[in-house]
Amino acid sequence: VGSEMCIRDRLYGVATAFRDLTKEKEIDRKKTEVVSMVSHELRSPLTSIAGFSELLLDENLTREKARDYANIILKESRRLNDLINKYLDISRIESGKSEVHRTLLNIEDVIRSVIDMNSFIAESKGIDVEIRIPENISNVFADRQMIGEVILNLFSNAVKYSPSNTRITIVVEDNDKEQIIKVMDQGYGIPEKALNRIFDKFYRVTENENVQEEEGSGLGLALVKEIINKHNGRIWAESQLNRGSTFFITLPKTNTEDFDKASVCLL
Ligand code: ADP
Repeated sequence: VGSEMCIRDRLYGVATAFRDLTKEKEIDRKKTEVVSMVSHELRSPLTSIAGFSELLLDENLTREKARDYANIILKESRRLNDLINKYLDISRIESGKSEVHRTLLNIEDVIRSVIDMNSFIAESKGIDVEIRIPENISNVFADRQMIGEVILNLFSNAVKYSPSNTRITIVVEDNDKEQIIKVMDQGYGIPEKALNRIFDKFYRVTENENVQEEEGSGLGLALVKEIINKHNGRIWAESQLNRGSTFFITLPKTNTEDFDKASVCLL
């Protein structure tokens, strides 16, 4: 927006105001995303919860039916809870409200504590979990809580999308520049055309019946990707249908950008 200031035909100056349109566009995009999430993703669990609650009110209901309905309500509320929490986590990271608290991390500690606390989900399907980490693996500079979240998401997906009595293997490798974490399963696999899209918000593979039956928000991998991006790492997946999938994450070993920032702060 520009305007010329003239007094008696003489030009005294030009005032110019700039508006940051990229920011406004981003806010618009976010609003559209929230509206579409509310209409598609939140509506379906809410409709189930309301519908089955109404059925529960029927006085002639058998105990067995009442238990079935209550279980559906519980399942749908959990789904709603997971959806909202993950969505808020992603938004906080995207907007920079959630800061990355980097410390020197022993990746083996992080992986083992996440798997120990959640091994019951694999046990319930008879899935073996193997962790292979070389003894002399170096530390990485990363946010413990966030990396724990990444490992938990990849591990629980590996369990969810695998048949019973298979194996999950978590491997950590090192090279000069980065640490590579691989989460391998012997599960249903991911169709090739979906391999890039699984990291998009709300995307779920729908072709496979076994996959379809599993509950999910389609936000886990979007959150994982956001966290890895914040750490200047990379994430990708390789997969073979009905053979299994491997998720790869890399974390830079020394983050020169962070050291630069730290020295700027000291100046
Ligand atoms: P969800 O809540 O649906 O699990 P995610 O964002 O974690 O959401 O994953 C997105 C989709 O990617 C899943 O719905 C599933 O179709 C596919 N997927 C993720 N991990 C695996 C895996 N280990 N094996 C097969 N498919 C997977």
